[in-house]
Amino acid sequence: MESSVHVIPIECKFGPVSAFAYYVDALEPAIIDTGVNVSAAQDIEPILAQNGIRIEDIRWILLTHGHVDHLGGAYAIWEKTGRRAKVVIPEKEARLLRNLNEHIVDYKALQGKYINDRAIQEKHITMLTTDIGNNIEPEIEVKDGDHISLGGNVSLTVVETPGHSIGSVTYVLDGLNWAFAADAVQMYGGLGGLPTIEDSGLYRESVHRLLEEVHPSRLYLGHPFRNVNGELQSAQITGEEVGSVLQASLDMDAKLTDLMQRHLSRDTQSSESNGLYGPFEAIANEIGYTGDPRNLPCSFFVTMHAYQEELKSTYKK
Ligand SMILES: [Zn+2]
Repeated sequence: MESSVHVIPIECKFGPVSAFAYYVDALEPAIIDTGVNVSAAQDIEPILAQNGIRIEDIRWILLTHGHVDHLGGAYAIWEKTGRRAKVVIPEKEARLLRNLNEHIVDYKALQGKYINDRAIQEKHITMLTTDIGNNIEPEIEVKDGDHISLGGNVSLTVVETPGHSIGSVTYVLDGLNWAFAADAVQMYGGLGGLPTIEDSGLYRESVHRLLEEVHPSRLYLGHPFRNVNGELQSAQITGEEVGSVLQASLDMDAKLTDLMQRHLSRDTQSSESNGLYGPFEAIANEIGYTGDPRNLPCSFFVTMHAYQEELKSTYKK
């Protein structure tokens, strides 16, 4: 076990948003997440160069989950390494690396399902597919408890932390207990002001597991997320802040659960499905949500759908 490992956070920017990739220095250097297709040339290579590191020397590309803003840059980095880097993805999301058309399938099942406008759907699909370099056959598909050795004394343990997406994992640096959780922890949400949660029950379990079982000493997240006052926080969290960030994520989950429970019990959803917020118009009004679900990404429909799916059985007539 190393006493310290050099980690370089790299903010990959695209449009109004950004996603973090993390360079982990070791005999076999790793990059955890990759931004989108343009990020390799635009952000990752230049920032590594400023630190005297060549992108060609990366030996591991570790993906926390299959979303476009995390795996989209994998192909470009892999190419720059002469296809020598080993590409690793959670087993449950390997299909998203293998075949970029799978992103269209997921889009249609989640956000797209609530968007009636064909032109907007088409626009979103084009954005999704151009943000991904190309298909890659993963070298390793990881699951809970797997270990990845980066050579020397640097190794990572895979902890499954699903919920934000169905197969999200956290890579934990052994010994140091630094957790690369990416989007598995969302506090009060990103720019749009709502966490993106595909399965609320799994999300809650995963945050509890990090808080009670993993006890990270550092947390490396995928984006800057908001605190209870709506202020965007750093995506790199250390010390006592880690516990507060995890607790804030559970607090927001409790608020969303309560919100959905009240709306389901009142059955306010039945008729209003043609407005901007579809069947969740009353909820958007109550929380004063003003985000535009016609933008991509937008957490509103994904997250509302998840809580509704989890809680609706309680309110069957
Ligand atoms: Zn994500």
